[in-house]
Amino acid sequence: MIPPGSTIGIVGGGQLGRMLAVAAAQLGYKCHIFDPHEHPPAADVAACFTRAEYDDITALRGFAQTIDVATYEFESLPVEPLEVLGDKLRPSTRSLAIAQDRAREKTFIEGCGARVARWEAVSSLEEVNEAVDRIGIPVVLKTCRYGYDGKGQAWVRAPEQTQEAWRVIAEEPAVAEEGVDFSAEFSVIIARWADGSHCFWDSPENEHREGILRRSTVHCSDQVAAQVPEARAATLRIAKALGHIGVLTVEFFASNSGPVVNEIAPRVHNSGHWTIEGAVTSQFEQHIRAICDLPAGLTGLTRGGAVMDNLIGDEIEQWPELLAERGAHVHIYGKGEARPGRKMGHVTRVKR
Ligand code: AMP
Repeated sequence: MIPPGSTIGIVGGGQLGRMLAVAAAQLGYKCHIFDPHEHPPAADVAACFTRAEYDDITALRGFAQTIDVATYEFESLPVEPLEVLGDKLRPSTRSLAIAQDRAREKTFIEGCGARVARWEAVSSLEEVNEAVDRIGIPVVLKTCRYGYDGKGQAWVRAPEQTQEAWRVIAEEPAVAEEGVDFSAEFSVIIARWADGSHCFWDSPENEHREGILRRSTVHCSDQVAAQVPEARAATLRIAKALGHIGVLTVEFFASNSGPVVNEIAPRVHNSGHWTIEGAVTSQFEQHIRAICDLPAGLTGLTRGGAVMDNLIGDEIEQWPELLAERGAHVHIYGKGEARPGRKMGHVTRVKR
């Protein structure tokens, strides 16, 4: 057990790191943020900040000496340098390596007996054309690496669009994936401990626009609820096979043939922000509890459910009205410029 008073290293200093650091502070831990940016949002609320590139081994070694346990808040990190954190890193680099490469991720998920959209790995225009022929229109191309919030993706809705789609994703190695005909999107959020014990939260139903999560709602609709048991079983198999410690999120499409895994995130997730006020223990606190091997907190609802809306780009300018709204829980991430598509904050309304 890593007791309160210890120092938790967080690799990545975005809003997820910030909310992890706030939860850690509540339990009496100090956090040390490692991030290459000048003013990462998490550094504002943490005891210590190292500004260095993610592959700076010397800086990572120094960081390792100051912390008792380490975690990461996003998956586009070079894996090899993080090996210097050794057993202190939870979850381990295995979860990271699999989640950060879409082809590897899909192969792994299939190996766990979970459903994924029909897909093929592609690394040339010729292969894209062949894949589109075999899979059938519509197909979405997704770069194997560094894609998030709909970035690194291009749709092929007619055969003559392959060349343009291949150009849009910068001719990077990619997966060509069947466009899934889904009725809703949802996620399963699990926290798992080193001894294999685990817990789930209620599954939020998620609405995306332009590839970016806009809203998560708990309770989900009945059609999603009917698919949650199978999705939970798949998520548990994935978490076990990874040997995952901490929170893991699996995003699903609710399709006619059952839940289809879209992707996995080996970390706390935007679709779990509602747990801060909507659940007895938030995903952030639970992640800290799991990586420090503390007892699990309860994951039940505080009231009748919750709706979480992201504040994207200049939507953050609504903060005066939102703060004046009774019962609205406003979170502002303290990021500088409100660029289009940038997640600047969120607001959660707990249902009675
Ligand atoms: P991703 O970055 O993979 O999470 O994709 C972002 C969003 O694009 C998803 O949440 C879906 O709304 C949509 N999307 C991604 N892949 C597919 C697919 N194979 N079929 C249908 N919609 C998709």
